[in-house]
Amino acid sequence: MGQKSFNIAIDGPAGAGKSTIAKLAARRLGFIYVDTGAMYRAVALFMLRRGIDPADAEGVSGAVEGAQITIRHADGVQQVLLNGEDVSGQIRTEEVGAAASKVSACPAVRQHLLMLQKSLAADADVIMDGRDIGTCILPDADTKIYLTASVDVRAGRRANELKEKGIACSLDEIRRDIARRDEQDMTRAISPLRRAADAVLIDSSEMTIDEVAEEIIRVAIAHGLRLSSGEAER
Ligand code: C5P
Repeated sequence: MGQKSFNIAIDGPAGAGKSTIAKLAARRLGFIYVDTGAMYRAVALFMLRRGIDPADAEGVSGAVEGAQITIRHADGVQQVLLNGEDVSGQIRTEEVGAAASKVSACPAVRQHLLMLQKSLAADADVIMDGRDIGTCILPDADTKIYLTASVDVRAGRRANELKEKGIACSLDEIRRDIARRDEQDMTRAISPLRRAADAVLIDSSEMTIDEVAEEIIRVAIAHGLRLSSGEAER
């Protein structure tokens, strides 16, 4: 009998470091990293391009079937395709992030992405990050992590990321944006961001990326992950 895939679910608020850390841990473990936020961002980009207000639930529901989202991996890096076009670079703006937070509250959008997310985890060892992975998408994940950090730390990290990309930004504006996104993601009626009862809480405010990745690997091993030689090396 073939071995079932090992799934690690990471949820948490915007800017907690989920994607950076999940990518690093996935590389060390030889797992596939699945960034579900990128899928919601691609749907949001589709709506913005069509001139559909991301907050208009009816308009978004009516149009979402036209947004075919697929993902592929090149050298371990996830690319998101929107109707066949690689939009991975275009979805990383604050505008698209804010729009993603709005469209993701729409049940038709969540339903549209559900099977894609579930099927990716069924076939392979994955680290999947998002907002509802441990609570809705992979309720039986072998390891669930709830990764958080203070709003100030998260805003500072986002600002640094943008600065590195040469994008001008105001720390205050980012802090407000993050707080608004937290509020939207945690209070929406469908699949709100919350810690699953069996998720391990990690507060990364005072930890390095490396320390958090190591902690996640340690928890996964405690949950039965077996490493073959060569895996989890630096
Ligand atoms: O993680 P990221 O900032 O790329 O996600 C963008 C937005 O997509 C989030 O603010 C959240 O509203 C939504 N999202 C979600 N469920 C997921 C992943 C992301 O609702 N599993």
